[in-house]
Amino acid sequence: MHIQVEGIEGLPLIHKGDDLPALICELTKFNEGDILSIASSVYSKAKGYTKRLAEITPTDRAIRIADRTREDPRFIQAVLDASTDILLEYPFVLSEISTGHIGVRAGVDQSNIEDEMVIFLPPDPMAAADEVREEVYSITGKSIGVIITDTCGRSFRRGQTGHAVGWSGMTAIRDFRGDTDLFGHVLKITEEAVVDEIAGFANFVMGESNNGVPAVVFRNCGTWQGHDNLYFRKEEDILRKLLENAR
Ligand code: GDP
Ligand code: MN
Ligand code: MN
Repeated sequence: MHIQVEGIEGLPLIHKGDDLPALICELTKFNEGDILSIASSVYSKAKGYTKRLAEITPTDRAIRIADRTREDPRFIQAVLDASTDILLEYPFVLSEISTGHIGVRAGVDQSNIEDEMVIFLPPDPMAAADEVREEVYSITGKSIGVIITDTCGRSFRRGQTGHAVGWSGMTAIRDFRGDTDLFGHVLKITEEAVVDEIAGFANFVMGESNNGVPAVVFRNCGTWQGHDNLYFRKEEDILRKLLENAR
């Protein structure tokens, strides 16, 4: 496997209405089966999933949480608005969005955008990945995979990594269950979250600050078999149950 990784350089600052797939296709040449990772922040800016804090009126709940977390109540209100379920309010808001992704502050960002503005995660990041994949196909005639990423914290470890919040043209999980290891043992539980592994490296290439590289192309990753059940069901999620019981 000789995987090639290309950070797409030369994209402008993205604003509402920009055709991100078209801009990316001008800067690189896609081959069949390539995987394009796009930072959710930039996808959202292109679609206008952003808001001025001045437009937001915080509810009592947002004011109460913001008082404890020492954040702007309008920012907390944006987080609440983006969330379908709140798992934790303090020391930070941890919440779920409609597609099942769970993230700190619902993935709402105040970086890489003008002052006094917030960027939301795409409301349906799975549909976003489908749409980018279809647009690249219509421009280039190449069938590629697309992963929409966000930088996320993790349980048990310091440091953030890139996570896949939406994907299209591949399964999230590569399922090793039923395979035999080097010694002939049948694997019973190994499911590899390939989309997160690729998102993690894409995030490394993107950087977090003023790199200006919101898209990364992976070539020669091959294909894999598996399924899309990346998120635990509520009843099987041990950490989520513990958090519920601790409330
Ligand atoms: P997130 O991980 O999706 O929240 O996105 P980040 O804010 O961490 O940005 C990821 C990468 O995209 C970094 O290299 C940023 O510098 C870059 N980036 C963010 N916004 C823009 C933009 O409007 N234009 C360009 N060219 N790069 C951007
Ligand atoms: Mn982010
Ligand atoms: Mn990031």
